[in-house]
Parts: sequence; structure tokens; C-alpha cells
Amino acid sequence: MSLTLNLARSGERLAHLLIQAGITNHQVLEAIARVPREAFVQPALTHKAYENTALPIGKGQTISQPAIVARMTEIIIDNEAPVKNVLEIGTGCGYQTAVLAQLFDKIYTVERISSLQFQARRLLRQLDLHNINFKHGDGWKGWSSKAPYDAIIVTAAAANLPTKLLEQLTDGGTMVIPIGTEEQVLKRIIRTGDDYQITDVANVKFVPLVAGDTE
Ligand code: SAH
Repeated sequence: MSLTLNLARSGERLAHLLIQAGITNHQVLEAIARVPREAFVQPALTHKAYENTALPIGKGQTISQPAIVARMTEIIIDNEAPVKNVLEIGTGCGYQTAVLAQLFDKIYTVERISSLQFQARRLLRQLDLHNINFKHGDGWKGWSSKAPYDAIIVTAAAANLPTKLLEQLTDGGTMVIPIGTEEQVLKRIIRTGDDYQITDVANVKFVPLVAGDTE
């Protein structure tokens, strides 16, 4: 494939690393290549921004590993039903949000830590991404007033399946979510009416989806 966008030449390098890691979807690779990951990490860590690793972003949280961001995005795209709107739980620094915003019409993203949400909102605006709606709140509840969503992506590990999120998925929609505490498994869930078909994708390591409160 040829990646010729010059906004983030290093993003292209990352896309090539992800090809080696088994990511094949060209739309996803191009979205990764377009997003300058260094803008999402702390200044002292920019030299590591284009490595395939998770990094700290403050407040005990992390920016996800690029291969996981790519894999979760691929799972959403791979579903046969067309995807227009996506709900993301756990905005964090906004990197996954930025990747999603390249690919889908409308992104809704929920974060419980207001300072992270504020920074992400500012950065994504600076990057000229205007198809994103932000909410400060508890991701276990989703964002019911904007539901249903063609896809839901949860970027923190839930101890069990959040039923409110299942209800907010369109018929035929896909949810991708890490489940577990110490041992976590990334699950793909496809809704058909009131049935949810659940498939294990991979073992993963995410920060926890915290219950209830916000800060
Ligand atoms: N999407 C990010 C990863 C963020 S890490 C990326 O692209 O790198 C997970 C985020 O989920 C953290 O910012 C954490 O504060 C948030 N989070 C944890 N529990 C939550 C909850 N119950 N509701 C909303 N956000 C939550």
C-alpha cells in the first residue's frame, strides 16, 4: 500500500509497524497514518509516540497500544452493517477518538475524568476534527439520549458486561469491549434483535472501567 499523507510521516511509520503486527484493513492503516500520535502523549515521551506500546497520560491512565486501537477499529469496520455513529467509552487522551473520527460520520465519547476530557476536547479541535461529541460522565451508563449506536467501543476493562451499553446498540451493531479484572479478554458482540452473539478476540490489558463516580 502507499501512504502519501504528509501530516504525520511518523504516523506512516506506525502504520507500517502495524502491518507487521497483522493489521490488514487499509482504511484503518490510513487513519492511523493520518493521526499524529505524538500530540497525544506527554512531551517527555514523544520519542516513544510511534512505538507499538501503551504510555502513561497522567491521572493513572494510559494511551492504548496502537495495535489494539487498530484491531478494535478493524472489528467495527469488518461488520457487514454500515457504521455511521460510534459511541466510545473512555476518551482518555483522545487518540482512539481521533482514529475513529477519520472513519465514521459521528463519534460520541464519554470520559469520567474531567481534566482528561478537557484536554482531549481541546486537542481534537486543534487537529480540526469536528465530528466528535464529548460527555463527562459514567461510561457504564453510555449516552442514552443519542442512542442507538451502530458501534460501541469500550477502551477500559469492565468487570462484567454493561447492560445499559448493550441496550444502546443498534440491531446488527457491533460492540467491542475488554471484560475482566486481572485476566481480561477482548470480546466482540454483535446484536441481532434481543440476541447478542459474543466472540473472544484476544487477551488484553486495559485500565479498569471504574464503577459509578466521576471526578
Ligand atoms: N481511548 C484511550 C484510552 C483511554 S484509557 C486511548 O485512545 O488511548 C481508559 C479511559 O477510560 C481513562 O481515561 C479512564 O479515565 C476512562 N474511564 C474509566 N472508567 C470510566 C467510566 N466508568 N466512565 C467513563 N470513562 C471511564
